[in-house]
Amino acid sequence: MTSADDIIGLLKEQSARDSTLIRKAYDFAATAHKNHMRYSGEPYFTHLTETAKIIAELGAGAAAVAAGLLHDSIEDVGVTPETLRAEFGDEILMLVEAVTKLGHLRYRGIDRYSESMRRLFVASAKDLRVLIIKLADRVHNMRTLAHIPKEKQRRIAEETLEIYAPIAYRLGIRKINRELEELSFPFAYPAEYERVVTTVRMKEPALRKKLQRFLRSVLKGLARQNITVLASTLRLKGLYSLYGKLKRRDWDLEKVYDLLAIRIVVKSIEDCYRALGVVHGHWRPLPGRIKDYISFPKPNGYRSLHTTVFMGDGGIAEIQIRTVEMHRESEYGVAAHFSYKESERGDRRLGLAALGEKLYRGLLSWRAKGIGNGNGVLAGERTGIPHWVQELGSVNAAVEEQEFWRELRDDFFKSRIFIFTPKGDVVDLAVDSCPIDFAYAIHSDIGDHMVGAKVGGKLVAIDTPLKNGDIVEILTKSGARPSRKWLDFTRTSMARKHIRNALAKSKQS
Ligand code: MN
Repeated sequence: MTSADDIIGLLKEQSARDSTLIRKAYDFAATAHKNHMRYSGEPYFTHLTETAKIIAELGAGAAAVAAGLLHDSIEDVGVTPETLRAEFGDEILMLVEAVTKLGHLRYRGIDRYSESMRRLFVASAKDLRVLIIKLADRVHNMRTLAHIPKEKQRRIAEETLEIYAPIAYRLGIRKINRELEELSFPFAYPAEYERVVTTVRMKEPALRKKLQRFLRSVLKGLARQNITVLASTLRLKGLYSLYGKLKRRDWDLEKVYDLLAIRIVVKSIEDCYRALGVVHGHWRPLPGRIKDYISFPKPNGYRSLHTTVFMGDGGIAEIQIRTVEMHRESEYGVAAHFSYKESERGDRRLGLAALGEKLYRGLLSWRAKGIGNGNGVLAGERTGIPHWVQELGSVNAAVEEQEFWRELRDDFFKSRIFIFTPKGDVVDLAVDSCPIDFAYAIHSDIGDHMVGAKVGGKLVAIDTPLKNGDIVEILTKSGARPSRKWLDFTRTSMARKHIRNALAKSKQS
């Protein structure tokens, strides 16, 4: 069984204070969940220690790890918030309560509201660490999904693919994103999973051997040029991401250029470019496949050099070249920046500011993409990086972390409101949207035949500005048509487009 010391050992540094906190949370959770079992027949406590280990590995800090041990104590065994506050203080209570609250968000199956659901999820997290605890919780639940009743498995796996895995990706935590996708795939899409497995299985051993040989000669080539390689790995593409590619490539494995990949970790950015030169000097690159994510990082902050070359025996392989820091960031994303170790040297400040900028850009691109519920492009796009991102860092660390997250979240979401259908589906709209906008966000037919609206069960005028959290019911009649006046009430371009279409149609007839 995992001991408290096993978990403490995973922290980046082991202060006496952090160790005491984690031991205390460990003992508290062990007692609170004493008679609590999982579907697998294992003690429930195992779920808590495993979740805590994942959080510790991500580097989210001792408070998050302790909250991970306690995350189900309010919901599942009736520990009161007052007890948690008295034993562990406000910060840990806040984390546990926020995680508990997030657990109450209901996922309603794959539909066009998924993007709104992801946004709501992020908006509801009070602190970046809340998302990280939730992701860790889900990773362990997915690792043990086989023990869950069959009828629940598919739904949980779908929810993981629709909500959790994309959030991990947005936060740049590739390690979690990948694991969640791979674990969910067989449960969410069993037939497709089988098809991918049969497509690759026969070829896999031979491909692996080929790739091993190729990696050895790449390493030799780099050594000859005195480039120090700190680490190297080889991989076959994960089955879920392979599935995505195969669908787009007529199920032709030959057309998947990154099926095989090797990763080279070197000492400096300069060495990255030198290594790329050596590789291209030995193996012919595929045109159009050379990507410099060091000069042009991805929106989620990902940096690396990518190229795809002919291995010389007919096959092709992708090569990723990066530094240790880039590697850590690519695997752990925002979590990589939680490192408290650098704080004495003042580097943490730089880390946070850089993170702020990256995360902000990532969220911005998310927002700029528009959303799946028909709102189109959102109003008030920003271009600059806000001042607080640049000014981060002078305050003390804990406050800084919290403020940072709160401001980032507020800034990102301040122009959005979340509105619910009576069934609980969520749609996010621009601030000051009215029931007409909401109706068109649900479906153009509903908008076109709208005659009235209820907010919280009460009839309201159809131009009433909606507030965050409103539950809105749209009343329709089959013969009803939009009126020209509606154009003055609506906030969303999608609604206006549909109204104009409907007006044009009724003119013709
Ligand atoms: Mn849990």
